[in-house]
Amino acid sequence: APNTLLSVQIFPFEATLKLLVTRDITQLEKIGVVHRDFVANVSHELRTPLTVVGGFLETMLDMENMEAAASKRYMGMMLDQTKRMERLIADLLTLSRLESQSGQHKEEPVNIPKLVEIMAHETRSLSGGRHQITIEVLSADWLHGNMDELHSAMGNLASNAVRYTPEGGSITLKWERQGEIAVFSVKDTGIGIDQEHIDRLTERFYRVDRSRSRETGGTGLGLAIVKHALLRHQAKLEVSSVSGEGSTFSAVFPSSRIIPRSMTELS
Ligand code: ADP
Repeated sequence: APNTLLSVQIFPFEATLKLLVTRDITQLEKIGVVHRDFVANVSHELRTPLTVVGGFLETMLDMENMEAAASKRYMGMMLDQTKRMERLIADLLTLSRLESQSGQHKEEPVNIPKLVEIMAHETRSLSGGRHQITIEVLSADWLHGNMDELHSAMGNLASNAVRYTPEGGSITLKWERQGEIAVFSVKDTGIGIDQEHIDRLTERFYRVDRSRSRETGGTGLGLAIVKHALLRHQAKLEVSSVSGEGSTFSAVFPSSRIIPRSMTELS
């Protein structure tokens, strides 16, 4: 009888242990798969432009007397490809900085109306007059956060709006308070996104339409950067979209990030 008692006592402990170990391995395996996929994706994304550049160079070397105009055209196309690689590497570095725990993350009071103003300027220059761009700053808040990270998050949302909205469409950048929380949103009248894709948008290299993303200079990392930059501010990304009508991407900041007005007036 004492034996039975002993095994009864041990059993639940062992079961818990087994469960923990199994869960840990599954988690590790998942991380392994994600890591392998990521390396494969990066390699592929870098190889494509390199292959194009290599192809152009071979053609140029094979040609006996290439006309100046033609060689200039080839060089222009090669330059586009190297710029694409540069953008990809810049985004990869930004993402890895945002993900590393030890990475620099200085915080300071950020003047939101000023930041939105800077972004409006950048968005207008990116659009080049092809869209109607409206700014609505409904509350003159300051936010406790990292200027560069916030700029990068909001800037990526704004540049996506430009890239996925056909000429003649409208884009609205808005900052507003909703009770205790604050919301920065970018609303466009662009191509929109089918519901089935919404949950996966912040995955690295996930694109609804690969060729459209490429044509407009996308790296497939923009929304992953947005997600991580917001996470560092305990903010979350919300997406609502209707295919063919447009999208709204919102960054929702908790009240703990908002600096009371009286304090900013003093500074
Ligand atoms: P990309 O460089 O491909 O734009 P992102 O991570 O920024 O990468 O976005 C992922 C995908 O989400 C895009 O490829 C596109 O399919 C979709 N997307 C992002 N923003 C918008 C938008 N404003 N309108 C429509 N689709 C969008």
